[in-house]
Amino acid sequence: MTGISIAIDGPAGTGKSTVAKEVARRLKLAYFDTGATYRVATLWCMREGVDLAVESDVAAMVETMNVGLVLDPRNPRVLLEDEDVSSLIRSDAVALTVSKVATNLEARAALGHWQREVIASELDGGYSEGRGIVSEGRDITTIIAPDADVRILMTADEEIRVARRAGEGADLATVREAVLGRDKKDATVVSFHTAADGVHTLDTSDLTIEEAVQAVLDLIAE
Ligand code: C5P
Repeated sequence: MTGISIAIDGPAGTGKSTVAKEVARRLKLAYFDTGATYRVATLWCMREGVDLAVESDVAAMVETMNVGLVLDPRNPRVLLEDEDVSSLIRSDAVALTVSKVATNLEARAALGHWQREVIASELDGGYSEGRGIVSEGRDITTIIAPDADVRILMTADEEIRVARRAGEGADLATVREAVLGRDKKDATVVSFHTAADGVHTLDTSDLTIEEAVQAVLDLIAE
């Protein structure tokens, strides 16, 4: 393996997707949004009428899912059965349901296996031609890629995270419930509020996007 592996975790609203994408773009690396794998698995189960309360059924469905990922940070896409579902997986219906898949440990194991394969293949070739990959999510620095070259946990004050999401277009109370409610559910299975040993913490509360991008680039250059 030759490429660089960069892992970024954190809750919603810390700016991690925007920053991870921009860092990948500047360094000509692949960009891997692991949240999209949970979201597309959720969409697939909803479409196939799987009872999300039956853990083994969900995990089995994940194994049958036919998904293509485009890891270009300028235009990352998710294809389900050859259909571009990149926008659909961001719908409220999926956002409100995704924690059911994320808290299913069997489904996490299957998705985690796939995520490790995606990362390994980028370090050898793939979209980045072996230059490497920026992967972001909730458990990348700890479970999926604990051996990444650079590992960062992005944090931000709760109210700032909510305000950032609301700034993207929705009502504050609804967004607060959506963001913090999802955090709470997710935190029952993964720890993404405090950094593990060897993981840098980057608090973006008072940073612009450009400052956060620069801070990540500085950590990579260290
Ligand atoms: O990052 P994003 O908000 O798109 O992630 C959607 C959901 O996927 C999260 O709320 C969480 O339930 C799940 N997730 C996860 N582990 C990851 C990435 C995402 O559990 N590494």
